[in-house]
Amino acid sequence: MTRFRDCIHTFREIGLTGRNHLIVHCSPSPPAGLHSGFETMLAALLESCESLITPAFTPQTMIIPEVGPDHNAIRYGQHYEHNRQADFFNPALSSTAFLEPFVSIVRSHPQAVRSDHPLLSFVGIHAEKMLESQSVLSPFEPIRTLAELDGDILLIGTDHTANTSIHYAEQVAGRRSFTRWALTHAGAVTCPGYPGCPEGFNALRPQLDAIVRSANLGSTMVSLIPARDLIQAVVGWIHVEPAALLCSNPDCEFCIAVHAQINADHTH
Ligand SMILES: [Zn+2]
Repeated sequence: MTRFRDCIHTFREIGLTGRNHLIVHCSPSPPAGLHSGFETMLAALLESCESLITPAFTPQTMIIPEVGPDHNAIRYGQHYEHNRQADFFNPALSSTAFLEPFVSIVRSHPQAVRSDHPLLSFVGIHAEKMLESQSVLSPFEPIRTLAELDGDILLIGTDHTANTSIHYAEQVAGRRSFTRWALTHAGAVTCPGYPGCPEGFNALRPQLDAIVRSANLGSTMVSLIPARDLIQAVVGWIHVEPAALLCSNPDCEFCIAVHAQINADHTH
């Protein structure tokens, strides 16, 4: 049985001091054998850091218009049925099935606050500075704020496909992002800066060897990566190799759109 003190021990082992600012990405199931699962882990996390945020994204609010900008990795029109089933964003809305098991535990904490981006909200504890920095125009500003605070990325049982900071770094590097639309009680909201495809993100792993600190919590791998260093690694790599971190699926509309941007840049 893994308990609270094992979590504390593992978090210390990877370098958490109680003063860290974190973005936390968790697998949908808590570490096997962890007593009281995510509740125990969150309690240990709050002992081990100063503030934390985690993505609470809600793609079920997305609606697709009849027409929109080009190179947007989307087929417009003919989405009447999909649009009819979209949810209005509200602060109590569940996030995706992958995120929700951990997010629901964070949200139930009495000091939890959720940002109000209708597609890409974050929920945090003691993290007002990060959460308040977000706007509809700059969905990943909380990650920029995290980096400014010398914060860290904590991966618990997940790989880099869940690592939202890589999406932010892609945008810093000048890579194309996308526009999506979300349903709110104030009407449809245009949401620029929507991220592309994360399926190729694990290619980053070897480049992080010098900056990542990992340990096991039971059979779950836990890794801590300084946000600023990760962003620098991604931006540097994309500048040298513009197709870095794209996936290998020839039908991936997001990665096709980025390849088109690279070819256009190359021609001009
Ligand atoms: Zn892709």
